[in-house]
Amino acid sequence: MSSTSTNSRFQGPCCGCGVPAPLRSSNQDPNRGRRFFGCINYKQPTACGFFLWLDPERDMEKELIQAENQVLKREVQALTKKNEKLRKKYKEAEAKVSGYHKIFFGVLVVFLVLWLATTSNSSSEQQQRLTAAASNNRSEQQQQRATTAASNSEQQQQ
Ligand SMILES: [Zn+2]
Repeated sequence: MSSTSTNSRFQGPCCGCGVPAPLRSSNQDPNRGRRFFGCINYKQPTACGFFLWLDPERDMEKELIQAENQVLKREVQALTKKNEKLRKKYKEAEAKVSGYHKIFFGVLVVFLVLWLATTSNSSSEQQQRLTAAASNNRSEQQQQRATTAASNSEQQQQ
């Protein structure tokens, strides 16, 4: 009996019929290709119905990994969607900011132009005032000269 237990991996365990169960492969989904030990008399009505998947732990591990992979794939898809949304939002925000910059600079340019225009106007006004004052001075000086000349001529006549 001890020898059968060591060989059971290759011959298969004895089923209820007392015969080593042969190793077969499943040809049905979803376990197509999965190997199992089954009762040799499974087609007969007297079959014991013995059935055992080969190395079920490994398959369970594989299934667990596959399930985890699917979960991770879904997470990756969700994250890529989020990433796309965030990129869109970022681009929109960037466009808004550049628009604000344009508006700001436009307003700044307008103010600069207005400021330059007012300063040049005031300076020309000042120049006009200065020239007017100078001409006034000149005419006053001419008048003074005229009056002094007149008084001089009067003094010479006396
Ligand atoms: Zn059997």
